Amino acid sequence: MGVQKAQRYCRNENRLVLAERQTPNRVLHLLLTVVTAGLWLVVWIPLELFAPAAYRCPICGDKCQPVTRKIRRQLESH
Ligand SMILES: [Zn+2]
Repeated sequence: MGVQKAQRYCRNENRLVLAERQTPNRVLHLLLTVVTAGLWLVVWIPLELFAPAAYRCPICGDKCQPVTRKIRRQLESH
């Protein structure tokens, strides 16, 4: 497990922050897939697709938003 960092927009700070999220423990998933002869993929694949960990603001801990063109424009106009 590690930590992934990316630039995200925080609503509370109203600015871009270097947000962090935990990367999934893929080794464990892979191990479970092998042990269950592939059955675990039924659990793992939806997890990867539909439940990725959210990026969180390192300052307030809230969920961050991806930086869209609209947000970028908003920030530049201030
Ligand atoms: Zn924040």
